[in-house]
Amino acid sequence: FKGFAMKRLNEIGWVEKEVPECGPMDAIIKPTCVSPCTSDIHTVWEGAIGDRRDMILGHEAVGEVVEVGSMVKKFKPGDRVIVPAITPDWDDEAAQRGFPSQTTEPLGGWKFSNFKDGVFGERFHVNMADANLTFIPDGLSDEGACMLTDMWSTGMMGSENANIPLGGTVLVIGIGAVGLSAIAGAKCLGAGRLFAAGTRPISVEVAKKYGATDIINYKNGPIDEQVRELTDGAGVDSVVIAGGNLENTWAEAIKSAKAGGTVSNVNYLSGADNVLIPRVEWGCGMSNINITNGLCPGGAVRMERLADLALCGRQDPELLVTHKFKGLEKIEDALLLMKDKPKDLIKPVVML
Ligand code: NDP
Ligand code: ZN
Repeated sequence: FKGFAMKRLNEIGWVEKEVPECGPMDAIIKPTCVSPCTSDIHTVWEGAIGDRRDMILGHEAVGEVVEVGSMVKKFKPGDRVIVPAITPDWDDEAAQRGFPSQTTEPLGGWKFSNFKDGVFGERFHVNMADANLTFIPDGLSDEGACMLTDMWSTGMMGSENANIPLGGTVLVIGIGAVGLSAIAGAKCLGAGRLFAAGTRPISVEVAKKYGATDIINYKNGPIDEQVRELTDGAGVDSVVIAGGNLENTWAEAIKSAKAGGTVSNVNYLSGADNVLIPRVEWGCGMSNINITNGLCPGGAVRMERLADLALCGRQDPELLVTHKFKGLEKIEDALLLMKDKPKDLIKPVVML
């Protein structure tokens, strides 16, 4: 079958592959809607996880089951399913310790377009189908469901990890699809005043719809200075880092947080070897400002819960979709759009 791949660092193109073997607990899926992720861009053009050869890209998809293994109980060919970007090995010891996204090795729950062929092809393989797949519920479109697989799951985790007190102040740095999902999650988790740092007009619009109360333009000066000014010097309880860079974003995050606050990172760091934490503003390491981080949560239960947030009308995942393409051959255009990040883009999807 055909797939769109990373051929090597800085090079993308089409490849032909054999349909993978379906193990007894696994499933083979035909995607019906896929979306490129900023992480695909870090992987191909920034070498963030090192070189990969002829690896099919993509990890955000919904689709139709075409084959299941002999031990799969919940699914059969023809079922329409949400496929989480992260598909843990649920019997691994890291899952038992409470970190399913880190199974078998650090980041090992992230298989598609990391060390296994991803979803940008006519077929792809899913491990542990019963634990990882979930049905697309009535009332949720394919493109809406596709936004749960990585964007909502990652961004909302950023807010879950940020220890947001009820009515607490929150700063989300970066309002791409991940930061916007963090805002949506922060609102659900009870944030009070909610600052959002970013500039793309379309993102600003959705940030407000998802619950941001104040928009900060990071181009107008350091974010922490703007936050301190808007809070009469107090700073915020919780910061989510969902964008920015390694030169100044971490300093701005730490400097924005109150003593006892939390800085939660979901950004996929690339471009430098060290993360710089400002010593004095971190209270010389004694400020009780905790730093948390994580990889997108996967699995069926996570997807079901996120789908419920959408179905109960708490937030609308489709607000993230700004561009719609049709046909497998358009995957390249969608990926390049994600690389260029025009002003009117949040997320493109490709309907297959
Ligand atoms: P986008 O590139 O769409 O968004 C980045 C945001 O950061 C934009 O709002 C941009 O502003 C803003 N930004 C750029 N420069 C600065 C700066 N100097 N200071 C503050 N903000 C800045 O990215 P995504 O939302 O798609 O993804 C965000 C990150 O999350 C990526 O690194 C991605 O790889 C990562 N990720 C991590 C996952 C995980 O499991 N932890 C899973 C999925 C993604 P502007 O509005 O001006 O463009
Ligand atoms: Zn991703």
